[in-house]
Amino acid sequence: MKRILTLLIFILLALSLQSWGFFAHRKINEYAIYTLPIEMAVFFKKNSYTLTERAINADKRVYVDSNEAVRHYIDLDRHKDPIDSLMIPWFKIKQRQNQQDILRKGIVPWQVQLTYQKLTQAFIDKNSKRIIHYAADLGHYVADTHVPLHTSSNYNGQFSDQIGIHGLWESRLPELYFHSYNLWVGKPQYVDKVSDMAWQAVLTSHALVDSVLSLEQELTAANSLLFKKAYVLRNHMIHYSYSETFCEQYHNALNGMVERQIRASIKAVSSLWYSAWIDAGQPDLKDLPLRDVENQDSPILPE
Ligand SMILES: [Zn+2]
Repeated sequence: MKRILTLLIFILLALSLQSWGFFAHRKINEYAIYTLPIEMAVFFKKNSYTLTERAINADKRVYVDSNEAVRHYIDLDRHKDPIDSLMIPWFKIKQRQNQQDILRKGIVPWQVQLTYQKLTQAFIDKNSKRIIHYAADLGHYVADTHVPLHTSSNYNGQFSDQIGIHGLWESRLPELYFHSYNLWVGKPQYVDKVSDMAWQAVLTSHALVDSVLSLEQELTAANSLLFKKAYVLRNHMIHYSYSETFCEQYHNALNGMVERQIRASIKAVSSLWYSAWIDAGQPDLKDLPLRDVENQDSPILPE
């Protein structure tokens, strides 16, 4: 029993380091559904529970598939080659000698493109199970490209004495302040080049890394540990974590960054769902059966 508990705690801790927290991932997929045109909205709303619940499946797969982890990030700071030279299709990366090295540094921009292609094919096939599967996954990977710390090797402040900042930025702050965000982002827009969009998202996120780290550092330097950490109630459990006062000051210092990144995630997710449907020839989704929920866990993993 003790071993199971230890394992459970380890998994929970590790999951908290993966990407937007579960809460934000679910909300991003949920709010993306609200933006869709009527031709798509009926099917997506019918499946909204599954789409939001499965927004976090990609993170869960990390523990059963050793290839999964690299699909959620890209350590731009570890690349010696100019970033422009990486903005090419994955099949061309595969022809490079340093392909394994590129893979190890994270592949989220390519994963977005691959999942987009899978979703487009699912729409062409009018396969409701695959549509939901890939739409949920695409929502996840696209959202990950909007998290600054997913574009840096110092993803949890481990090199700058800021361990825990990953969860603070992407889980704690959204959970505390989500109610105050304006997340109505308007209609989706057709995306001409998915690869450009994915790269633009990671580059924009990467430009924010410095602020994410330095603002936390400044606040920490200006205050005592007593102010920074406290026992807080979260998800019905007591944790020793960042105090609400510290969270509030950090959130204020970030000046709307978390809200802007969540808004950008929602807009990107809905635009890519919409574009995949357009690229598939705008199939009629009205008559698609509800997904067979019983069989949803059969793996359909990207190659
Ligand atoms: Zn992730």
